[in-house]
Amino acid sequence: MNHLLSDRINSMATSQTLAMAALARDLKAQGKDVISLSLGEPDFNTPDFIKEAAKKAIDENYSTYSPVDGYAELKEAICRKFKRDNDLDYKPANIVVSTGAKQSLYNIAQVMLNEGDEVILPAPYWVSYFEIVKMAGGVPVEVPTSVESDFKITPGQLAKAITPKTKMVWYSSPCNPSGSVYTREELTALADVLANHPDIFVVSDEIYEHINFAGNFCSIASVPGMFDRTITVNGVAKAFAMTGWRIGYIGAPEFIAKACTKMQGQVTSGANSIAQRATITAVDADPSVLNDMVKAFKGRRDLVVGLINDIPGLKINVPDGAFYAFPDVSSFFGKTLRGKQIDNADDLAMYLLSEANVAAVTGDAFGNPDCIRFSYATSEDVLKEAFKRIKEALA
Ligand code: PMP
Ligand code: GLU
Repeated sequence: MNHLLSDRINSMATSQTLAMAALARDLKAQGKDVISLSLGEPDFNTPDFIKEAAKKAIDENYSTYSPVDGYAELKEAICRKFKRDNDLDYKPANIVVSTGAKQSLYNIAQVMLNEGDEVILPAPYWVSYFEIVKMAGGVPVEVPTSVESDFKITPGQLAKAITPKTKMVWYSSPCNPSGSVYTREELTALADVLANHPDIFVVSDEIYEHINFAGNFCSIASVPGMFDRTITVNGVAKAFAMTGWRIGYIGAPEFIAKACTKMQGQVTSGANSIAQRATITAVDADPSVLNDMVKAFKGRRDLVVGLINDIPGLKINVPDGAFYAFPDVSSFFGKTLRGKQIDNADDLAMYLLSEANVAAVTGDAFGNPDCIRFSYATSEDVLKEAFKRIKEALA
């Protein structure tokens, strides 16, 4: 029946993060002892003070539509957060609250891109950038990096990728999937290239900002010359373990914020009212409330990097942020393991699922076909068991 569907949906790839998580869930439901390192979401509970704020919002009857771009109090709190954490002077008119950072990104693509506009995606990039850009008629232009360069692009690579059709550059730092964090010096060098191309806008996806072990987080909008051409994307899903609450937001030049509001006025009417009220408390909280969680993630990062380095044939960078490990697995390509031919990262991910009962996500989904992604947002015991199984399956 697919021929009855639109070309748009038929040509769209399924989100591999969500697909792999669903497959792992199905296998578990069938009684298989599957460990899922596929989906990136914190395994912590939403902090109690945020839950209390949500309960209060229900009791206070925040049950009607909010303003399309978000409650004024929330937008003010987000401005305070941008100033406190990122030294950015956004005003409420620059802020739009959406149903997750994913919708923020979707809005941006819809309001910024015309058919054929090119969007530079340093690869690996987050899985949904490619399809969100494509859906808006944009053309994703991948700029490959590798484990040897800590999966970061150089100013030279950026300069080479720019054409007269380039409209935007989208990246995440800390990066999903590589965990790489761009320093202020590196972003300044990239901004120097963009200084010669004043019409190019940047999307800086900072959703993992607080899950950063290097302590050198920089928002590119704070680099001289970049504020008026950057759309800063953030949200509460990762830092506050609120993936299901679905709140993301942007800080952007006012004309872009207005356009995103117009867009979501026709599509969602605005984000969930209760979750927005709770988010005021979250973004107003001092980031030190996250210390325990970030410490736990760092411990797991160290553990996982050690376990991966202990498996012959895998090569990994030291991910400075987020909660993903993205090893290069290409040394297995062309080999046969337990009678199964491994030709690419898809094959290896499926092999690990069937032979080690561990679900990971193929690097292909992130624009890097040499790697696979493991989310380490789970307990150290589970991680030890998972990598023990992986080591055996790859031996
Ligand atoms: N950007 C990145 C880099 C992500 O990993 C995610 C994962 N969820 C998102 C955006 C989307 O976040 P949200 O859950 O707020 O839609
Ligand atoms: N961002 C998470 C991931 O990369 C959640 C899944 C998704 O939103 O696609 O796994």
